[in-house]
Amino acid sequence: MIMAEPMAREVGVCNDGKCAVHGGVKVRGNIFTGRVVSAKADKTAIVERTLTHYVHKYERYKNVRSRLVAHNPRCIGAKEQDVVRIGETRKLSKTKAFTILSVEGHAKAVSHEDVGKAFKEKKGPKGKAPVKEEGKE
Ligand SMILES: [Zn+2]
Repeated sequence: MIMAEPMAREVGVCNDGKCAVHGGVKVRGNIFTGRVVSAKADKTAIVERTLTHYVHKYERYKNVRSRLVAHNPRCIGAKEQDVVRIGETRKLSKTKAFTILSVEGHAKAVSHEDVGKAFKEKKGPKGKAPVKEEGKE
């Protein structure tokens, strides 16, 4: 079945009506930066942000994670682990009210094995702390 597609405004440019650049969706409200944790769904990305939240009782901070569902237009095509800027829009679907504005960079995937490996490398070959060079301050 051939689906009728709306006319592209420019040749070779995306014709996504929900695209912030090429579509008719206005960005208003909050603009956040986060990391894409999933880009599996069609034209959708789940963006995670780490926030610091003060706990008054313990007079300490804790890290809180927040996940937002954002529209991922084909002209941007953000992938997992990309650091993206997202802007608030009108409700785009049941769960989406943000759209990706730009890809700012790429965050390296950090697994528990990677952290363990980095820790061992820092410690040195025998598992001991590296010897400090004396005579230097
Ligand atoms: Zn576009």
